[in-house]
Amino acid sequence: MCNSVTYEGRIYNTPGELAELVGGVDRLVWQSFNPFTPWPAGKDWHALDLCLCPVNVEATLTSAGFTATNDGDPMEWQVQR
Ligand SMILES: [Zn+2]
Repeated sequence: MCNSVTYEGRIYNTPGELAELVGGVDRLVWQSFNPFTPWPAGKDWHALDLCLCPVNVEATLTSAGFTATNDGDPMEWQVQR
């Protein structure tokens, strides 16, 4: 199971969906490394329809003014404004 973000009953599973929540693709905070192994050399892993692993979810949400918590599962983020 991958990272998920729940806000007001909606679940966000991809960078593209999370970008809608935080107000644009420019506001996504990406990880500094490729989290996917194996991954074709030279292929960009910053794709909006992948899972949320390439995104620093907590930093993205915090910098957009949300409060992110997880109770129990560290990959299931619960978000409050
Ligand atoms: Zn993933």
